[in-house]
Amino acid sequence: MEDLRKIKERIETLRKEITLHNYYYYALDRPVISDEEYDALFRELQELERAYPQFITPDSPTQKVGHPPLEEFKPFEHVVPMLSLENAMTEEELLNFDKRVRKGLEGTPLRDILDSSGMYVVEPKIDGVAVEIVYEKGILIAGGTRGDGRIGEDITPNIKTVRGLPLRLMPFGNVPDPPPVVSVRGEVYMEKGDFLKLNEEQRGRGAPPFANPRNAAAGSLRQLDSSITAQRPLRIFCYGIGKIEGLSVTTHWEVLNLLRSWGLPVNPLSRPCKTVQDVLSIVDDLRDRRHELPYEIDGAVVKVNNLEAQRYLGETTRSPRWAIAYKFSAYTAQTRIKNIRVQVGRTGVLTPVAELEPVSIGGVVVRNATLHNYDEILRKNILVGDHVIVRRAGDVIPEVVEVLKEKRTGEERVFTMPSHCPVCGSEVIQNPGETAHRCSNPRCSARVKASIIHFSSRDAMDIEGMGEKTVEMLVDRGLVNSIPDIYTLSKEKLVGLPGFGDLSAENLINAIERSKRTTLDRLIFALGIPYVGRYTARLIAERFPSIKSLMSARREDLMSIPGVGEKVAGSVVDYFSDPNHREMVNRLLESAIEIKTPGEEETKELEKSSIFSGKVVVFTGTLSSMTRSEAEELVERMGGKVSKSVSRNTDIVVVGENPGSKYQKALSLGISVMRESEFLNHIPFRK
Ligand SMILES: [Zn+2]
Repeated sequence: MEDLRKIKERIETLRKEITLHNYYYYALDRPVISDEEYDALFRELQELERAYPQFITPDSPTQKVGHPPLEEFKPFEHVVPMLSLENAMTEEELLNFDKRVRKGLEGTPLRDILDSSGMYVVEPKIDGVAVEIVYEKGILIAGGTRGDGRIGEDITPNIKTVRGLPLRLMPFGNVPDPPPVVSVRGEVYMEKGDFLKLNEEQRGRGAPPFANPRNAAAGSLRQLDSSITAQRPLRIFCYGIGKIEGLSVTTHWEVLNLLRSWGLPVNPLSRPCKTVQDVLSIVDDLRDRRHELPYEIDGAVVKVNNLEAQRYLGETTRSPRWAIAYKFSAYTAQTRIKNIRVQVGRTGVLTPVAELEPVSIGGVVVRNATLHNYDEILRKNILVGDHVIVRRAGDVIPEVVEVLKEKRTGEERVFTMPSHCPVCGSEVIQNPGETAHRCSNPRCSARVKASIIHFSSRDAMDIEGMGEKTVEMLVDRGLVNSIPDIYTLSKEKLVGLPGFGDLSAENLINAIERSKRTTLDRLIFALGIPYVGRYTARLIAERFPSIKSLMSARREDLMSIPGVGEKVAGSVVDYFSDPNHREMVNRLLESAIEIKTPGEEETKELEKSSIFSGKVVVFTGTLSSMTRSEAEELVERMGGKVSKSVSRNTDIVVVGENPGSKYQKALSLGISVMRESEFLNHIPFRK
């Protein structure tokens, strides 16, 4: 019995410590222990809980995942409605808001309080999903989306997986305890970097990418299976409490500090302001910094600080009178479409592209914007010569959002899709049920060029020097008409061609030779099968021993691979049922392409050519594709040394999810940092 009590005590200590370190890490962005130390605490807790399941409680930090999938979302009622905020689009509208607030409080004693104690609080407006989380006796018991403000959706299992959101409130320092029931409000969001990585994975799986981090956060939060949500890097900033009664606080600023001291993440850029002039300068500062922030903000929220004043001002049916959202203009600009041209991709799909009068959006000059497909042009009613709004969000290709019809002069022209390929002149076809127009000629030079560029790219066969210009030139001169032709090139054929001297010709031939030793996943990806991205190629390669066996695979064989769905399976089967494709693969195999599962000798070879060779490598954060020790083993196999801590001697820091202090240190020492996706690019083989 004695022992059990000690174990229970240890479990409770561990939980407290882990919650505390989560707080330092997520809420304060200031970890005080290393990743290893944190991992060790977490593992110890997991092991103790596994051995003594009677001590598992729902608020344990290990319980962030583990709810069976839901059939549907139940309604979630907000005791105090979550009203939406009124928007201010201009400085003038913000000044008017200030005037209304002052007028509303005219003649009350509250007016003096405002002038003495700081009138407003400004918070960055996070571009995410508004949620409410209910804690009972400090334990997270429910979470819901905003919905229509009164009824949202109950997403409790999902909300528990949000990084940095404590399952148990833990007051730090000398602060009031949370009341028996408290509902906390916040914005769930995804960091920009995490969003790009997620989209890369989506594309790899053949799944549609998300349009922006907010959509990604919303989509992730609305998964019926919380284990999917758990894989998505969601975070939260808390900004308020639904029902404030029972708490001895007088200002909103105190509320924010209280939330923080209960262990909830609160945005560190929130500020109290004495006057509306201070508000304007903080808003300007946020606008200047928005591009540097790791998450997207689309404005600032201004709230009256004094809670009694808030109550006095009250609300309209739709929104409170004591707060306003000041919106930054989005990453959009106005310009004109000079022309619409059509690009032909490697699968023959014709993509209309708008050539724009150059315009600067968020500091980048944009000259082209995608129009996606012909249906989009019709839907948006776009004419050549139109004035349009163009949006550039993050690293996504700029797109035309809408037409400014009032600016039309009558000079605009209707665009029609060409009936014949602009590159090879073959007929353009549209498959039934598809929006895409395609060039019908499999040997179209635009398709050939695009597929060779893809085949040679770094993630595929990695033929250095086989870039866009070289491919264009080789295809235009008839030296290469299909992918396997690459392997018929020789130094003699190259020397003397534009851009090729003795040395550059030799370099390209060497790169082509090197590419013959490859791995199955790279070859599968290189073929450019629709919907088969890098990750999907890897999943497939792990199941099939050779490209020959893949060529005769059935739909069912492919669909039995976790992560491969109907679309991918169908696409692979279709691809290999085309005799042209089979012939191409056979020719590739004949040109002495060797598919390797690396043995000892190859490993030595790889050691020499690996970028990790002789380098000191440090890992931080969680890797999603393999365990830390697998990754370390790989680096060692490739001739690198693994170190546990970052110092001036470190050459490369590989950063997984939720990196710790080592990441910061690497940045401050100027050490080269590699994301997991890049790291995977440098690994030529996997177990
Ligand atoms: Zn064509």
